[in-house]
Parts: sequence; C-alpha cells; structure tokens
Amino acid sequence: MIPSVLPTYNRAPLEFVKGEGAWLTTADGRRFLDLGSGIAVNALGHAHPALVEALTSQAQNLWHVSNLYHIPQQQALADRLVEHTFADTVFFTNSGTEACELAVKMARKYFYDKGQPERVEIITFDGSFHGRSSAGIAAAGSEKMTKGFGPLLPGFVHLAFGDLDGVTDAITDKTAAIMIEPVQGEGGIRPVPDAELKALRAICDEHGLLLILDEVQCGVGRTGKLFAHEWAGIAPDIMMVAKGIGGGFPLGAVLASEEAASGMTAGTHGSTYGGNPLGCAVGCAVMDHVADAAFLAEVNRKAGLLRQKLEGLIADHPEVFEEVRGAGLMLGLKCKAANIDVVNAGYENELITVPAADNVIRLLPPLTLTDEDIAEAVSRLEKTATQIEAA
Ligand SMILES: *Cc1c(COP(=O)(O)O)cnc(C)c1O
Repeated sequence: MIPSVLPTYNRAPLEFVKGEGAWLTTADGRRFLDLGSGIAVNALGHAHPALVEALTSQAQNLWHVSNLYHIPQQQALADRLVEHTFADTVFFTNSGTEACELAVKMARKYFYDKGQPERVEIITFDGSFHGRSSAGIAAAGSEKMTKGFGPLLPGFVHLAFGDLDGVTDAITDKTAAIMIEPVQGEGGIRPVPDAELKALRAICDEHGLLLILDEVQCGVGRTGKLFAHEWAGIAPDIMMVAKGIGGGFPLGAVLASEEAASGMTAGTHGSTYGGNPLGCAVGCAVMDHVADAAFLAEVNRKAGLLRQKLEGLIADHPEVFEEVRGAGLMLGLKCKAANIDVVNAGYENELITVPAADNVIRLLPPLTLTDEDIAEAVSRLEKTATQIEAA
C-alpha cells in the first residue's frame, strides 16, 4: 500500500525534534552535528535568535497579503540585495526551482522584446541541477531526472562540464543564454574555475547572450563571498537564489540587471506567496548577517581551518577518502568507499553529511559553526573512516 506521504524520497531513519546552532536533537535525545544544514539552507544554523525574532515578530502582525499590495518587507529585502550585488531588480519566489522558471522566462522574453523571438535556447552543463520543475529537469537534462516525464520543455543545449570550446561551437542564432552553477552542488561539489567563469562572461558579451548563474546552493555567503561569482570578479545578467537566503524559511529570488529584466513588465509573471511578509522578514535578518564583511571573513577563516583538517583526514584515511574540493563552507569529500556507506556510518556517529553525485559527500555546515564544532566534525569523520576501514 502506498504510504500516506508520496514515497519519492529515500529517507534516512532519523527524526529530529529540535535544532540549535550546528546541532540537531532526536526525540530520544541523541545529538547530531549537522554538516548538511538541510542542504545548504540553515546558513545561520538552527534557531538563530535573530531569525526566530524576525519570524515571530512578523507573525504577530501579518502573515500574508498577496502581491496585489505593496509589501514593505519585500521592498526592504530587495533593496538589500540590490545594494550588495550586481542586480538592479529582484523577484521573489518560494524555491529554487521557481527561480529557475523565471530565469528561463526572463531570458526568452528579453530576446522576444528585442525582436529576436527565435533566440530561445539556453546552454547548460552536465551534472548541473536546477530544480525539479519541467523547466528545471529539462535544463539539467540528466536521464535520472527526466526519464518518464516527457515531453520535455524544448530549448536546452547540454554540454559536458568544463567544455568551453563546446560553448563557442554550440552558439547559434537561436542561442539566448548560458546557465551555470558557479559551484555544482548536486553534481558533486564541482567548482567552475574562475578563468572559466570569466571566459563564459566574455563569450556572452561577444555574442550578446545573457549569463544566468544558479547560485541557489553556492550563494548567500556559502563560499566565503556573498555570492560565489564574486571570486571570479564577474557579474551575471540574471541570478537564481534560494536555500540560504531564507535561513530555513522557504524563500527564493531572481536577481537581474535592469537590461536583462526589461521584458518583465506588469502582468508577465507572478506568484501568490512569493515575497510574502514572513519570508522576507526572515530574509532581511539573514542578509543583515551574511552581507557583513566581518561575518564573511569568519566564514573564510573557518573554511580554511576545516579544509586543512580535512586534508589531514584524507592523508590518514586514503582508503576511504580521495580528495577535498569546493570553496568556503561548500566542501565535497570525494570518497573511495561508497559515499552512501560513509554518510550512513556518519549517522552511527551522530554526524550528518549529504551525498552528491560523483561519489562525493557534501559538507555544508551552518556558516555559524564554531571552531569546537569543526574539531568535533573532523573527529567524528575520523571515527567514521576508521569504522569503514575495519568493516
Ligand atoms: C536546490 C537547488 C535548486 C532547486 O531549489 P528548490 O528550492 O529545491 O526548488 C536549484 N538549483 C540548485 C543549484 C540547487 O542546489
């Protein structure tokens, strides 16, 4: 008999009742160190006092009014995002996949309004993940996500990850945009080298294409910059954001330059919940923390410390781990053992990591984790590795 919850997830046999900082507690009192953050969502950890305050005080006043009216919290969050990024304008969604939908629509509308309606194609890369909507799965294109769900939304051209030559060859008079994650998340924590992001920007400029960056996972301080593309010194035309921006409240956004957004006039797009007062009140509180230079400096310091300890871990356990990669606190440990075995053995040691493609386990801790948490995380990974070696 089908379970009452549609069984689309492979869930671990764990159930948490409380969270605080980088720690999660089960009903029977086991305390887990959370290096997953609900897949890079709880950027400020669990139950951060500033987020609890933002949510509860907003909840006392007003939950929802719809976008038929002005929403001051939405305006405030948009202003903060515009102040701190390349963007001139922001649309709020409830998720990353909805941000992907708008990014695709915005790119196509841009060229339609420019009198080039044939320009509809978007170049994407193997191993990418852009959400589970029809556009999102068509954009990523993997068989795992698309099989059985046809007909797929047309207009995506898939290239191998890192295939820069292929990009130039794939551009035709139908091409509208290039869409890429600066650091692939689900694909196994694969960073796009700065030089490659710069080259993609240059290609877009040369051919008049829009550069769409998916920073749903790598954005919001995760890599030690507010947004990951800042490391490469470039700016996109359109950017998708979600996950960390809500700190655990479902919130996403599309950020865009005035030019790229020029087709999106009144009535062209909308959302009932997107940018509602609760989500945006929390988003403002998240931004107040992560957009601060001192906060980001701490992320980078802690990332350096964690990475150095992980290098030691790999050296001590070459049969379990192969390499560490990623940026900031978005790290991947490529495993020699099966990654899912490492994740499951971690649970036995009250340690939470997240599997990804390419036999990687992801470490996406709250950006607020402490030095003691880092030492504890590495010691639990050591214990886990030792158990796997003995098995
Ligand atoms: C998680 C993710 C998405 C989809 O976000 P949802 O909120 O799950 O819809 C899109 N792109 C990337 C890079 C992601 O990591």
